[in-house]
Amino acid sequence: MTEVELTNPLTCVPFKVRRILGQHSQGRAGPLLVVLTGIHGNEPSGVQGLASVIRKLQADDPPFFGTMVGIVGNLKALAAGVRYIDEDLNRIWLPERIDAMRKGREPQSSEEYELREIIKIIDNLRHPEDRNFFLDCHTTSSESVPYISVPLDVPSVQLAGEFPVHSVIGSGDKLTGVSDRYLIDHGFRGFTFEAGRHDRLASIEAQESAIWVALHRVGCIAEAPLRAEDCLKKTQIDGHKYYEVEYIHKVTPDQGFQMKPGYCNFQRIHQGDLLAWEQEHPIISEWDARLFLPLYQPLGDDGFSIIREANQPLNKS
Ligand SMILES: [Zn+2]
Repeated sequence: MTEVELTNPLTCVPFKVRRILGQHSQGRAGPLLVVLTGIHGNEPSGVQGLASVIRKLQADDPPFFGTMVGIVGNLKALAAGVRYIDEDLNRIWLPERIDAMRKGREPQSSEEYELREIIKIIDNLRHPEDRNFFLDCHTTSSESVPYISVPLDVPSVQLAGEFPVHSVIGSGDKLTGVSDRYLIDHGFRGFTFEAGRHDRLASIEAQESAIWVALHRVGCIAEAPLRAEDCLKKTQIDGHKYYEVEYIHKVTPDQGFQMKPGYCNFQRIHQGDLLAWEQEHPIISEWDARLFLPLYQPLGDDGFSIIREANQPLNKS
């Protein structure tokens, strides 16, 4: 699949989506910023937000340093409106799989095909020096404020700290095969940005804002995007900037996991609260903490996580 049609829900104008949604450069030296969107096919807001940034860059043509490439990850799943076709595209960024495909092994799933295309683009554009950055744009199945999920990597955590949103540190490191860990291990700095609930119009604006802030912080544009910063700032729940994951509740399809309806991401929970059911058995909170990523969609390996405020995250790595 090479092309998908999406409709902008704000303007109702349809537009064509290709693997490279846009590549922007004015030939000046500068960093490479890779913006990944639609890695999960049921999360089109990143594609929408990126398309809006590209349109404005082309229309306003501000001085631009280096290159931004905007990539659409899972085209086939995006066309079908599902998280993935054969396997989760954000669980297969494994060096052994990627290296095997670089050496010529044919993709063995729909998502391996998509991943091979993405890696080809990144390999071709990679900055020769240490100036490679990425932003992987996602959304959540539950209600959520926009936040960053950043692996334990000091330069990436520092970069995350420059964004006016909460950062959850190391949550992706508890999973295998995620894009952010792979890219960081291969010379990039960056993180996953979660813009809010999948179908919220506000998620599109949050994605667009995060991309503008990224363009400024990595040095592609010189002027601070004040509107974008304000848009993100006004969504935050309290003064705590960094969080760490304490526990992840894993689920399998035959477990009959069902989250209690109505929980929001980052919601404060207490010991004794009913969180979910497995078959008919209640899962009761052992924690006085915050709930993270309660699962409200049919596909997914993690039922919910527990996070706590982290005061000095940079000392831990
Ligand atoms: Zn996602």
